[in-house]
Amino acid sequence: MEIDHIHRPSKGEFFERYFKRNRPVLMSGIMDDWPAKEKWTFGYFKNLAKEMQVRIEIGNVLHDRPQIERLGLTEYIELIEGAEAARSEDATLKDAEGVPYLAYFDIFKYFPGLKTDVEFSFWKGRFRFPIAWIGPAGTFTGLHWDVGHNLFAQFCGKKEFTLYPPESTPYLYTSKKYDIGSILSQVDSRRPDFQRFPLFKKAEGTKVIVEAGQILYTPRGWWHQVLALKASISVSCFAFGLKDGIMHALPGLAMHALHLGGLYRKSNCACHPD
Ligand SMILES: [Zn+2]
Repeated sequence: MEIDHIHRPSKGEFFERYFKRNRPVLMSGIMDDWPAKEKWTFGYFKNLAKEMQVRIEIGNVLHDRPQIERLGLTEYIELIEGAEAARSEDATLKDAEGVPYLAYFDIFKYFPGLKTDVEFSFWKGRFRFPIAWIGPAGTFTGLHWDVGHNLFAQFCGKKEFTLYPPESTPYLYTSKKYDIGSILSQVDSRRPDFQRFPLFKKAEGTKVIVEAGQILYTPRGWWHQVLALKASISVSCFAFGLKDGIMHALPGLAMHALHLGGLYRKSNCACHPD
């Protein structure tokens, strides 16, 4: 299937043609007047908080054993810049092993002053959770779907999404492994095990490349995996309406509190190392 690519849609066009119909869409031009579009570079983040330590995931925690390290933000950005300078081609799935990733970063909690650099207010929903992703080429987030509707804004670099509609669920083998805000597939699509997951052969994904300055809308329930082709800075703004919030966001927060307390899927998750 084709994913539409539209330029500066009106609110009405976006909500009528895509949001209400649960159809993904790639959009350009929306962030043209957001300060973040020019301002959010690796150089900017490198000098933002020199003492700050951040939680770095190693590899694809959704399908590898979760491994976590702490690094200085500045040191981490320098590492990304070094890796990018040494690379001449886009990353491929072969590169997606053991790459350090500042993932699921609660950017506006740590840097509330940056909130005015972005403008997600056209994105309706009473509950909005903007989360940043900063990493080198080769970061990979394995197959999953998000419980919130996801507006994914790319500020630097380039990412490749592979999208599967909700009807593909029988081919994607839902996992019991816990991850905050998402439902995982058991299939590690970097090296699918067709003995265990024969129906995965039937799953038909659609690739979408999201370049700097573009925004991809992924509706709730659409499976996706994400590979950074180049070093990237992105924000996913997850949103829930009132009904979705009560049905999905609040139970998700309660489940996460239980998980952190060791009461829910304690030793099978994407966040705690063994
Ligand atoms: Zn955990």
